Amino acid sequence: MTNIRIGNGYDVHALAAALPLFLGGVKIESPTGCIAHSDGDVAIHALCDALLGALALGDIGKHFPDTSEEFRGIDSKILLQRTMEMVKEKGYRIGNADITIAMQKPKLAPYITEMRETLAGLMGTSPENVSVKATTTEKLGFVGRGEGCEVYATVLLLK
Ligand code: MG
Repeated sequence: MTNIRIGNGYDVHALAAALPLFLGGVKIESPTGCIAHSDGDVAIHALCDALLGALALGDIGKHFPDTSEEFRGIDSKILLQRTMEMVKEKGYRIGNADITIAMQKPKLAPYITEMRETLAGLMGTSPENVSVKATTTEKLGFVGRGEGCEVYATVLLLK
């Protein structure tokens, strides 16, 4: 019998002027970037939380605490690699992942393909199994005011 596990992840970071913006492992041209202890890749953080959640292994803050000097400014791709090591240790592989990024601007459409390829590479799967979607919130709420970026991630793991 195929063993399947589902997980969801959610993360928010505040945006501020003149910071670099990384989403899904890709550098995005943007006047604002995420305020963070790491490189602030909120999409990878939500994805890591979905993977950890699928295995009931806690959350990203437990494994990579933002109080630790080890993770100051860290490339979030490394956090995803380390999370995938835990997934593999438990004998699982990616079925598929679906990520929704809510951000008012910039437009993320030009970066979607590269994000899917980058995340798929890091997770040892095909881009066909990695969906990245971007939406605005029609100028509503903190996302709509450009104060923050919000990401939802869902993953299915197969054994
Ligand atoms: Mg985060």
